Amino acid sequence: MQDCLFCKIIAGDIPSKKVYEDENTYAFHDIAPQAPVHVLVVSKKHTPDVAHAAQDLTDAELAACLRTCAKVAADLGLTEGGYRIVNNCGENACQTVKHIHFHVLGGEKLSERMA
Ligand code: AMP
Ligand code: ZN
Repeated sequence: MQDCLFCKIIAGDIPSKKVYEDENTYAFHDIAPQAPVHVLVVSKKHTPDVAHAAQDLTDAELAACLRTCAKVAADLGLTEGGYRIVNNCGENACQTVKHIHFHVLGGEKLSERMA
């Protein structure tokens, strides 16, 4: 997808701190971390958000995102203490990058508030 920041990161055209990659997903450290661990998990196939995922991704491609979130969390030592997975969809959620992604946050006790 032209002019999509995360498509360019996946392609290697923009540098990122890669954590994990497989055929369906790419994971990298967020540039402005909101917790001691803050990783973004993105689908390699472009779709703007979860609202469009049903038409653009297969169920397996969408599920792969959550599997990668759990794998990355485990690899980074978050499983025992727990972690949060956040997905922003659309304007009211303040989604800034219109390429589906999941935030994996952990490494400390997070706010009880979801937002
Ligand atoms: P969202 O607000 O849910 O769309 O999240 C977008 C996230 O992308 C934010 O947490 C940003 O800090 C992060 N971000 C923006 N540009 C980059 C980049 N070049 N590398 C890593 N993370 C980025
Ligand atoms: Zn994209």
